[in-house]
Amino acid sequence: MADGFDYLIVGAGFAGAVLAERLASQRNRRVLLVERRDHIAGNAYDEYDDNGVLVHRYGPHIFHTNARSVFDYLSQFTAWRPYQHRVRALVDGRLVPIPINLDTVNTLYNLDLSSDELEAFFAARAEKRERIETSEDVVVARVGRELFEKFFRGYTRKQWGLEPKELDATVTARVPVRTNRDDRYFTDVYQAMPLHGYTAMFRRMLAHPNIKVMLQTDYREVAELVPHKHLIYTGPIDEYFGHSLGPLPYRSLEFEFVTHDEAQVQETGTINYPNDHAYTRRTEMKHLTGQKHDRSVLVYEYPRAEGDPYYPVPRPENRALYEAYAAKAAELEHVTFVGRLGTYRYYNMDQVVAQALKTFETLPDV
Ligand code: FAD
Ligand code: UDP
Repeated sequence: MADGFDYLIVGAGFAGAVLAERLASQRNRRVLLVERRDHIAGNAYDEYDDNGVLVHRYGPHIFHTNARSVFDYLSQFTAWRPYQHRVRALVDGRLVPIPINLDTVNTLYNLDLSSDELEAFFAARAEKRERIETSEDVVVARVGRELFEKFFRGYTRKQWGLEPKELDATVTARVPVRTNRDDRYFTDVYQAMPLHGYTAMFRRMLAHPNIKVMLQTDYREVAELVPHKHLIYTGPIDEYFGHSLGPLPYRSLEFEFVTHDEAQVQETGTINYPNDHAYTRRTEMKHLTGQKHDRSVLVYEYPRAEGDPYYPVPRPENRALYEAYAAKAAELEHVTFVGRLGTYRYYNMDQVVAQALKTFETLPDV
């Protein structure tokens, strides 16, 4: 190891772990993976709590993708348990399906519409928009203001601390509207959970003799000490540059875990609360993990302005500031930025894996 490492990778989440694994196994490169938390797997980290219930420490993570290449890639490191996520929203005192579908509207309004009639119901209420630019436009142009107010406005204000009209359309567009009875949260071709959890999957990805993992270490503590030829950075891009152009906004969350002495508490994986409580949603872990246990853990998500940076905030001025940082990043020959925080993109896990696999193909060889 006299020559040090070929790559120093910052962050042991999906972006860092995929690149470490590819460089080690496909190019026989030596990688030092540095992570400031005391565990691998980034925000996908899961662990068994004191009662032996498997929990996702950074909120519920459901794997779904249409990309066969991503699913096949991860399948090298885990077996899967098929899981289709279902969510109910508490609206007007009733638990109804979200994404809004035929049953949502029929239940809320005591109707018996067909799919065609529901399409007409939406059309009669939809507001005309020349262009769909914001998270308000996208919903009111499809279903009208009343359903927007019931399902999206309060949730979005709570989650982001912003009005939907202050956010890009892409945010609420993540949640579709349906005229059939499909009540799955996602419709991707591949929907499954790692059979033994995310952390176990990461452990297998990183179990290569060319990969060394250093936990509880900020890369800045070792970057000068450990020789390396190229740096791969998956932390917040503005932090890399010492916030020299000003801080990029992020949204944070606080998680509250509550243990129940019963095997099952709620009918679906998640319940959303658009108009009640300080939390946005609560998720029963065992629906996701499939674990058999006589206790059950629910996680409640409380949005916060301060704290770990979990979400980039998609809106034009933030995009512009990110682009300014990206221009600085492009000038650095020996540094590559990747991941949700490294490229300031509201990416799901599969999108981060796809981005990392693509980055691997174009990464400068050293
Ligand atoms: P991260 O997982 O954030 O990893 C980056 C790592 O870098 C972190 O561990 C951090 O500690 C480390 N780091 C940063 N700076 C430094 C430094 N200076 N030195 C050392 N280490 C550093 N996606 C889905 O597909 N399905 C879901 O259901 C889903 N649910 C989610 C729920 C919540 C509440 C959140 C917040 C996200 C969810 N996601 C979900 C998104 C998913 O978490 C991300 O897409 C994915 O984890 C991003 O991987 P990453 O490697 O880019 O970043
Ligand atoms: N959203 C909403 N009501 C809901 C669910 C989602 O208003 O019942 C909006 C909200 O702005 C949220 C966004 O749609 O942040 C994306 O929702 P998703 O469930 O994809 O959020 P994530 O799982 O990434 O936190």
